[in-house]
Amino acid sequence: MKQICTFGTSNYRISDLQLLRDSDDEAAIAKLLADCPVVQVASGEVVADASRARLYIVLRGALAVAADTRTGMADGTVSKVLPGESVGEQSVLDEETNLSSISALEDSELLVIEAELVWKLIDESNALARNLLRLLSFRIRAANAQLRRRQKLGEFYRQLSMIDGLTGLYNRAWLNDLLPTMIATAHGAGTPLALIMIDLDHFKKFNDQHGHLAGDEALRAAAHVLSGALRPTDFAVRYGGEEMMVLLPDTNSKVALLVAERLCERMQNAVVFSDMRVALPHITASLGVANLRPGQDDEALIAVADAALYRAKDQGRNRVVTELALPAGE
Ligand code: GH3
Ligand code: MG
Ligand code: MG
Repeated sequence: MKQICTFGTSNYRISDLQLLRDSDDEAAIAKLLADCPVVQVASGEVVADASRARLYIVLRGALAVAADTRTGMADGTVSKVLPGESVGEQSVLDEETNLSSISALEDSELLVIEAELVWKLIDESNALARNLLRLLSFRIRAANAQLRRRQKLGEFYRQLSMIDGLTGLYNRAWLNDLLPTMIATAHGAGTPLALIMIDLDHFKKFNDQHGHLAGDEALRAAAHVLSGALRPTDFAVRYGGEEMMVLLPDTNSKVALLVAERLCERMQNAVVFSDMRVALPHITASLGVANLRPGQDDEALIAVADAALYRAKDQGRNRVVTELALPAGE
């Protein structure tokens, strides 16, 4: 038999209340609930004493519940609690105070059930226990989904922070993160690793003559040359201003030299547009190649490539220099 109770001004059947539905003995539940207070909350009003561990069932109106700050989920998420639904179950169960902020979205009527009575209802009615479990399981799923979304977003921003905004190449932060690992991997596996340092020639003059925006365009064109000429396993990095770097895992010194020469040639053939109509003069670059030696760390490897680059500049620019003459037979 369906038990009709009168709570405040609202006529509610026990079976209309989410937590109490499907119970075998509605009469017994109605009896237990008979003395529970029913409070009226005006629209916009904060639900007083919500910090106590108690359950509120919305009989009329609607509540807004702002996320509990302790869960780490506090991101402005507000959930709406409608008639028949409840808030505060969790604080009753774990006896923690409820730090969510609860307010009325419209004039509302709430049935207030103190923690002791909730436990009594759980003891007396399997239905309440079952409904609670279902509700909590739903909330855990929702919280997990939110967490996953946030992890994905975090990963997205992490990757974004590793990319140079102007050129789309990896940036220095990425290099600091990844180069030591790549070097350790190469040492561990006994595989070669080549590093090419690239610096645009007379780039200050280019900027002075054509403006900084055209300079930016030239940097983008140079980056495009690098990313277009490499294998999927190679990496191009913007090391600083107009200095770039290419990392070639599993690449011996002969191949690295060939790659560097190809890059040098493509660089001078690249067309730089400041817009679709005016073609800017071509750019050239100087390149220094270094090959990982046993025991060498990232700083030492970069220093060798830098020294080779310096020599390339010294010898007239627009050329490739490998730091050490290749030992016979290699
Ligand atoms: P060198 O051939 O010896 O390398 O001469 P350089 O003029 O290229 O070298 P220098 O280091 O004197 O100048 C580098 C120039 O690169 C100066 C700086 O304005 C320019 N530059 C660095 N970063 C950017 C950038 O993001 N955009 C533009 N447009 N210019 C940049
Ligand atoms: Mg330069
Ligand atoms: Mg430079």
